[in-house]
Amino acid sequence: MDKFDVLRKYFGYSSFRKGQEEMVDCLLSGRDALGIMPTGAGKSICYQVPAIMFGGVTIVVSPLISLMKDQVNALVQQGVKAAYINSSLTDTQYDKVLKNAALGIYKIIYVAPERLESVSFINLCRRIKISMVAVDESHCVSQWGQDFRPSYLNINKFISMLPNRPIIGAFTATATDEVKKDIINILQLEDPAVVTTGFDRPNLFFSVLRPAKKDNRLIELIKERRDKSGIIYCSTRKKVESVCDLLIKNGFPATRYHAGLSDEERIKNQDDFVYDRKPVMVATNAFGMGIDKSNVSYVIHYNMPKNIESYYQEAGRAGRDGQEADCILLYGAGDVQTCRYFIENTEPNPQLTPEQNEMFKKREEERLKHMIFYCRTSDCLRNYMLRYFGDGAEENCGKCSNCLTKFETVDVTIEAQKILSCIIRTGQKFGAAMIVDVLRGKINDRITYFGLDKQSTFGIMKDSKPTEIKYIIEKLEEQGYIISVGAGKPILRVTEMSYPVLKGKAKVKVKKTVRIKTKEKTVE
Ligand code: ADP
Ligand code: ZN
Repeated sequence: MDKFDVLRKYFGYSSFRKGQEEMVDCLLSGRDALGIMPTGAGKSICYQVPAIMFGGVTIVVSPLISLMKDQVNALVQQGVKAAYINSSLTDTQYDKVLKNAALGIYKIIYVAPERLESVSFINLCRRIKISMVAVDESHCVSQWGQDFRPSYLNINKFISMLPNRPIIGAFTATATDEVKKDIINILQLEDPAVVTTGFDRPNLFFSVLRPAKKDNRLIELIKERRDKSGIIYCSTRKKVESVCDLLIKNGFPATRYHAGLSDEERIKNQDDFVYDRKPVMVATNAFGMGIDKSNVSYVIHYNMPKNIESYYQEAGRAGRDGQEADCILLYGAGDVQTCRYFIENTEPNPQLTPEQNEMFKKREEERLKHMIFYCRTSDCLRNYMLRYFGDGAEENCGKCSNCLTKFETVDVTIEAQKILSCIIRTGQKFGAAMIVDVLRGKINDRITYFGLDKQSTFGIMKDSKPTEIKYIIEKLEEQGYIISVGAGKPILRVTEMSYPVLKGKAKVKVKKTVRIKTKEKTVE
């Protein structure tokens, strides 16, 4: 049987998707390979097809217990001899799997990474022929990734204890360079082929909304999608509870998922969602890894996630069936504070040095900035993310809220001059909210305490709306005239770029919304 026969016979597919065939060919030829593919691209086929064709056994390392079981069940149903080993097995079940494996019954064995340390498992693997080790979610080896799992560091040791070095296939949806390098180095891939499928998911429609009242907007959005299945991500457990209650009160079939629920309830709610008994899931980011529900037709982020990697992964759970699907982010300024708070209060990782932890925090702050810019940009949203992942893209995708919005470029040099001089005159030690208040000539205790009402810039924008001033401040930051410094409540500072503006030698232009066209309707 060749690879096409295997694909047809065991999986029922007539052709490989982009990247899959290359991965399969490479592994079959005996070369290590790293597959970088976004969620939903079809990574499993890449190792399952060669695994079926190899003479020996393939060990699949996966961190996701729920996923293992589903994958193995699916394989067994298709007539592939497969088993899984993780903490959910009883001793008797485990012994049985070991015995069958020793008899050479299985082609594929899924294991949790912790198992690679177990003596009984290692002894078994030294006695049977292991053709390949496939490492799923392989970015978990990287301490720079956000899902570092120390047990992933066992993989190498395990491989080195085998009498013959198997082929190693690694898979991840994380594309940043540092993580890629880590995977290759730590897993010691030998001259690996690196196969990237490209990160674009053409059937996803991206939008960012900035509603005055998120709850109301959310209800509208779900009403418009009444018979569809969707996920609503919130940043805290508390928010999950309140949003889920809100939806249930409004008559939507919603359920919830977060780490504060009992195992039993989590499993039940997840099943209710997967089997469409409750097609609306409200969850924290604890939900979703390894859930293969193909008909999720929208993912709404009630809060902004802390980086683009998380956002793209979570949003990417929509439309896995290839149908058109929506990824909507409800952005509010409070989200930035929440994310900063999370980053500030992350427990240092005891396996890293203090310097490494410090660097890690800096990177997290850097990533957050990109996420904030995503929410504020008026450029094509899809391209913004693809560029972030190092994927070149054409100018406009035509399938995101910015591409469908008509913007007008307006000259805001005068406003910019006022804002920048206000920041300088007040000593570059206040945040955006304070600058807006000073410019609008507001009197409050802090302003009189610092004597800001005596400044020449006090009240020079009293006829402008606060939202408008805020918007220009954001744009000035995005364009590099201002930087915000510090976590928690950052303060604004001007950069070198702003002096020509203040001297009247450079102009500042921003894009302003004229008309928003959504997919369903046009809002003038
Ligand atoms: P990933 O692990 O990359 O997120 P999966 O391996 O779970 O993705 O595959 C995503 C979906 O795509 C699954 O429903 C799978 O059955 C389907 N799929 C994978 N390869 C093909 C193919 N060649 N043709 C059609 N469907 C495929
Ligand atoms: Zn676009």
